[in-house]
Amino acid sequence: MSERPAGKLKKWKGIAVSPGIVIGKARLVDRSRVKILYQYLIGEHQVIKEVDRFKEALEAAKQQINDIKNKMPDQLKKHAFIMDTHLMIMEDSMFSTASINTILQEKINAEWALKKSVQDIETLFTQIEDPYIKERIVDVQYVAERVLRNLGGKEQESLSEINERVIIVAHELSPGDTSSINIGKIMGFITDVGGRTSHAAIMAQSLKIPAVVGLENVTQHVQEGCLLIVDGGTGEVMIHPDDDLIIQYQERQLRQEKFDSSILRMGHLPAETTDGHRIAVRANIEFLEEVTAAKDHGAEGIGLYRTEFLYLRGPRVPTEEELFEDYKQVAEIIAPNPVTIRTMDMGGDRFSSDLSLGKQPNPALGLRAIRFCLREPKIFKTQLRAILRASVFGKVQIMFPMISGLQEVLDTRRILQEVMEELDRGGLPFDRNIKAGIMIEVPSAVAVADILAKHTDFFSIGTNDLIQYALAIDRGNEHVAFMYQPFHPAILRMIRQVVEVAKAAGIKVALCGEMAGDPLCTFILVALGVNELSLNPGGIPMIKKIIRSISMEKAKGDLEEIFRQQTASAVLELVKQKVESLIPDVDKQFLLANGG
Ligand code: PEP
Ligand code: MG
Repeated sequence: MSERPAGKLKKWKGIAVSPGIVIGKARLVDRSRVKILYQYLIGEHQVIKEVDRFKEALEAAKQQINDIKNKMPDQLKKHAFIMDTHLMIMEDSMFSTASINTILQEKINAEWALKKSVQDIETLFTQIEDPYIKERIVDVQYVAERVLRNLGGKEQESLSEINERVIIVAHELSPGDTSSINIGKIMGFITDVGGRTSHAAIMAQSLKIPAVVGLENVTQHVQEGCLLIVDGGTGEVMIHPDDDLIIQYQERQLRQEKFDSSILRMGHLPAETTDGHRIAVRANIEFLEEVTAAKDHGAEGIGLYRTEFLYLRGPRVPTEEELFEDYKQVAEIIAPNPVTIRTMDMGGDRFSSDLSLGKQPNPALGLRAIRFCLREPKIFKTQLRAILRASVFGKVQIMFPMISGLQEVLDTRRILQEVMEELDRGGLPFDRNIKAGIMIEVPSAVAVADILAKHTDFFSIGTNDLIQYALAIDRGNEHVAFMYQPFHPAILRMIRQVVEVAKAAGIKVALCGEMAGDPLCTFILVALGVNELSLNPGGIPMIKKIIRSISMEKAKGDLEEIFRQQTASAVLELVKQKVESLIPDVDKQFLLANGG
């Protein structure tokens, strides 16, 4: 073993979000560095708004620093002056007034104006002789970073620059971070914050990188280069493991690999219950590069192509040609099976500095997904053109996220119609019978599902958001993660209602949230009559195995019992019993490791 910082064994337990065991060196990633790459001019009428945006970010930063100061433990109180210094910097005219003046005079964005002020201060500091005072420039930079982060226009050091095989340890990873992970190098990651369905977690599963999130303050206990064991199946993290523990985990690693390869064969069998009911099992993907893995795991198509990551990957909004090329390839590789391309779900925790989403006080309830697209029809139309043009290269379906009511469906379909007419005028071919469906992930959409069903070709239930919005539990907040309950009777009733409405309207209903990949949920979803499950490719063989062990008739009987339970924990208990008797040959540990 290479040299590494020695220390005492420490064990942590977080939220297991992506299975697999890794043993490797820690690499602490500081996500506080904010690089501002863009300067943009703002219109005359926007200038005052931009100044206000800057002032709000400044005020928020003051509040944050005051909070830190107030919560300082007694033994640290003597260092509180550092916080006072930071507050003073923000009051300094070279920092704040100068930035405001730059916005007013040069009509440029707040981030760039602040960057200029900091550069001016840095120039002044270079002339200072006293090394201690000279050093204080870091405080100016620290404060500036806080304000920049509040402004939202953040661009951070890329994880793609990491060139060693390491386990990433970070306070938080954004979707932008995870989308630039160097898969060959990064063995896994652990974070202080995050929940089971946070986007970083979902992406870790797609990339097959073991991950544990919601470890609260693990970053404060891990040293750069120290040895870690991360079990993404159980949520356990061990810092400074001794040799016995390492051997124990290496053995588990081997057992798991054996299990994985034995179950992989299942992926290519049809997902049919013992009494002949067929379910379509498809894959959720984020990148074109995952289509082959999806096929290898037995996906009968792509049930959810999350398209926002192309917008997050690059420094600017992708062009129609770039999008078209990407969608065309996905359609071609997966053909003759279908791909459901979901239009971009930007906003929430998916943020691009090149789209004018701005910093929103409550992003999950703000300008997100279809709301953003309807407000920015030009960007939306570009994506729709690309999807439609790709539709002649395979079997493509379109899906709209975050629909909350009929008006959005009508507005969306009108725009789709306009795009079709534009393509016709330009003589560009597309599939005229393309199916356009909607995601059911906002509780209001459940309530009016009967109305929506008349205006859409299919439903896809997005339980990740549905649970978040129905139970009022932030899907990325570790403090309330324990309340994020797929088995809450309210959620089960909502799914049942949507399926019943879809059946009555004669449209298909899919489910593409994380519940689709949770082995404990499978028999419920099958018994309810969900037509399609779409999940992370790696989970497909297991879910198919379970479907193939289920008798629809028996599952329907069990369902009645499930629906008589009144709390999430009562449902969970019962579900565990049912699943254990359903698939006795599945090692419980692996069942858990695969999502249960
Ligand atoms: C969902 O909300 O369940 C879903 C599949 O969409 P996303 O996770 O991309 O928000
Ligand atoms: Mg969603």
